[in-house]
Amino acid sequence: MTAVRTVLVSGASIAGPALAHWLHHHGISVTVVEKAPEPRPGGYAIDLRGKAIDVVDRMGHLPRIRARTTEMDHLAMVDTNGRRRVGLHTGLISDEDRSLEILRGDLVRILHEPTTEYAEYLYGDTITGIEQDDDGAHVTFADAAPRTFDLVVGADGLHSNTRGLVFGAEDPLARFLGAYISIFTIPDHVGLDREALLYNTPGRLTGMYRTPRAEGAKAILGMHVPRPLGVERLSPDEQRGFLRSVFTGNGWESDRILDAMESSEDFYFDSITQIRMDRWSRGRVTLLGDAGYCPSPLSGQGSSLAVVGAYTLARELGRHTDVTRALAAYEDRMRPFVQVNQDIADSGMRFLAPKTRFGIASRDLVMRAAPLFKTLGTFTGKLDRASEAFELDHTPVGSER
Ligand SMILES: Cc1cc2nc3c(=O)[nH]c(=O)nc-3n(C[C@H](O)[C@H](O)[C@H](O)COP(=O)(O)OP(=O)(O)OC[C@H]3O[C@@H](n4cnc5c(N)ncnc54)[C@H](O)[C@@H]3O)c2cc1C
Repeated sequence: MTAVRTVLVSGASIAGPALAHWLHHHGISVTVVEKAPEPRPGGYAIDLRGKAIDVVDRMGHLPRIRARTTEMDHLAMVDTNGRRRVGLHTGLISDEDRSLEILRGDLVRILHEPTTEYAEYLYGDTITGIEQDDDGAHVTFADAAPRTFDLVVGADGLHSNTRGLVFGAEDPLARFLGAYISIFTIPDHVGLDREALLYNTPGRLTGMYRTPRAEGAKAILGMHVPRPLGVERLSPDEQRGFLRSVFTGNGWESDRILDAMESSEDFYFDSITQIRMDRWSRGRVTLLGDAGYCPSPLSGQGSSLAVVGAYTLARELGRHTDVTRALAAYEDRMRPFVQVNQDIADSGMRFLAPKTRFGIASRDLVMRAAPLFKTLGTFTGKLDRASEAFELDHTPVGSER
């Protein structure tokens, strides 16, 4: 197969616009199709860590990202009456030079805006079919007229449409991590000040945090379950009903959070799931970010994998004249980094929502000791190492502008 000159990207969140930047840098023309009518604002706080910070620095975005960080100052575990039992300055959890927390919508805006000068965006549309032959990937859309591209990249998230069309059903590729999470914006009836408060009962997490970057507070409801319950496929109203059945009378702010949930406009609910695939590419179609290798929110590394993946994929497409070789090199370079970052997710839930009272007490002990030992050891140490476990290639490739 010949060199790639035109790419269609499905999804305009983090992976999609980051890839658009790097494809343009390598002289490749890019079209992005996004099912939402426009870039989605707001959303929860996410982190960019380690090598992803070096990538956004090379994109020239670091000053704007630093100017929009959430400025969260501390984290505390509370009891059912809201009394802070144990707390930490967030600087103890992460190194401020190698970890930046930002609202997802702010990051999407920073990545997306400059790309509109050269990338073609098709909002409110979706791919309905992909046929491949030696001439290219022939794509049909729900709305736009059919077109042919040299390559199609699925950057359309955990429940990727592109992956479904080309690789088949999600279930065999999904690794359920035994938990559900919901997050949504509510009024700040607690009076938080750049603070996250978390309340645990065995296997359950109720949380609230507030950043000056957004109106109101974000509420979090999380729970362990032994096996998938299928609730991720229910309607939002049915999911709200499910959360009510689990969290009513659970203590602390649970009931007020449930009441406020009913009128929240950005309700999010999903299973905590990873995507694990033997191959991310098939012919002229490849996957990027959560679509191909979602590590789950518990790893805290999904956005960083998306950004580093975008840089690496575009670079290999710029370096190789043959698309098959480029995609093979992308997979070879990314796979060890993905593996190590997916592997850290299991300890995330043990930290956030221990399953037993003993587990909650042990976790709190670790937190109390943290100021003395300057680290939360088990999880944050692994996370820091995983986020740096990638060699960013500095050698220029011929296609670079
Ligand atoms: C509660 C929560 C907390 C998280 N915390 C962190 C964190 O601390 N750190 C971190 O790094 N990551 C975190 N993540 C994960 C992070 O949000 C994802 O890993 C990251 O957004 C992946 O980016 P992406 O661009 O690959 O996919 P997504 O952000 O999921 O974007 C997919 C895009 O594709 C679009 N799309 C979907 N279907 C179609 C279709 N059919 N056609 C066209 N477009 C489509 C969607 O509208 C969306 O714009 C968290 C996630 C959640 C849910």
